[in-house]
Amino acid sequence: DMGSPFMEFKTSIPENGLVLAWLTRDNTKPIRPQTGSALHTRFGSFQHNSMISSKYGTQLASSSSTQAGFIHLLHPTPELWSMSLPHRTQIVYTPDASYIVQRLRIRPGSRVIEAGTGSASFTHALARTVAKNGRIWTFEFHEPRYGIAKKEIEEHGLDSVVKCSHGDVCKDGFISACDENLDASAVFLDLPSPWIAIPHLKTVISKKKIVRICCFSPCMEQVQRTIEALQKEGWLDIEMVEVSCKRWEARKEMIRKPEDAIERLRDIKRRRNEGLRKRNERIISQEQNEETASEPQENGAATPAEKFILDKPFLPSEYNPWGRGKRVHEGEDGYEWKDVSKVEAELKSHTSYLTFAYLPPLVPGKEEMLVPSR
Ligand code: SAM
Repeated sequence: DMGSPFMEFKTSIPENGLVLAWLTRDNTKPIRPQTGSALHTRFGSFQHNSMISSKYGTQLASSSSTQAGFIHLLHPTPELWSMSLPHRTQIVYTPDASYIVQRLRIRPGSRVIEAGTGSASFTHALARTVAKNGRIWTFEFHEPRYGIAKKEIEEHGLDSVVKCSHGDVCKDGFISACDENLDASAVFLDLPSPWIAIPHLKTVISKKKIVRICCFSPCMEQVQRTIEALQKEGWLDIEMVEVSCKRWEARKEMIRKPEDAIERLRDIKRRRNEGLRKRNERIISQEQNEETASEPQENGAATPAEKFILDKPFLPSEYNPWGRGKRVHEGEDGYEWKDVSKVEAELKSHTSYLTFAYLPPLVPGKEEMLVPSR
């Protein structure tokens, strides 16, 4: 038993062990280092020999003489796997996955039903959480996709925890390939028509424990049909949530007073008059033919002489919030500031609506009898 790199941490990289090679922020490549092989990237070539036995987390320099790039050799985690896995479908990303796992109260030892498997992104997050004593039954009706997921789960050493089944959960329900009592206490449905699958759950979910469900749908029409099905089947406390990831920016903005504005305008006027006075003095004292550069402009714009005065840096003793002046750092003492925040308008992650509900136990047991309160 090799164990699973998604469940146990190793300090150094074994030969043929899974490594997630971090190239850039959006390019992470899964590799299995083998003696004599190399990873060729646009940042250079990287010898597998120099990866084997080195520590996870190592920064590795390229072996090419022309490209002096480097990569990081990272230990697999479900989060990094979601970023590097070969996409076969839309996937559930970490912001949604982490929220769903905690709302469904999934923990070590939990028994979970999932459909469809898709690219098994969420399956990896589930497997890490339920750990060795938990069980996940995941269903996929697309045969090749089921095959790839099953092989991947085996290669990742997760097959003792994750049971992959090939089947249509809407048509045939949750019939596991392994003939066992599922007794699941959490259900996650990421399918186009979860409302057709919901009535099939009765026979496979726990009768003794609270069962929690989450349905993941991109459209409101799907949410509405899901809610109707959940209500009809007796699910309670139905709630829809959308997880949206936004970047928040917080900073201080100087409080600007009308008196400052008035003072600034007065100052401009003062300096303009001063400029005009100096120019007139110069016109008188200088010869006519030298004066062409300061010819008054007909459109009322500042003459070069006036501009010279007006362009001179404004150096008040106090900070001038409207114009040039002494440089003040954000939040500096001696000024009034207010805290402001700005939200990034664009949503970055692909999001769906998450519909949550729970079903109380049919036969109240000793554990989990209480209805959750929020
Ligand atoms: N949650 C997955 C992940 O994180 O990688 C992605 C799931 S993908 C969006 C939806 C999957 O459900 C597809 O692979 C599709 O073939 C499968 N599917 C759709 N209807 C199904 C059904 N009735 N029974 C089983 N699988 C189904």
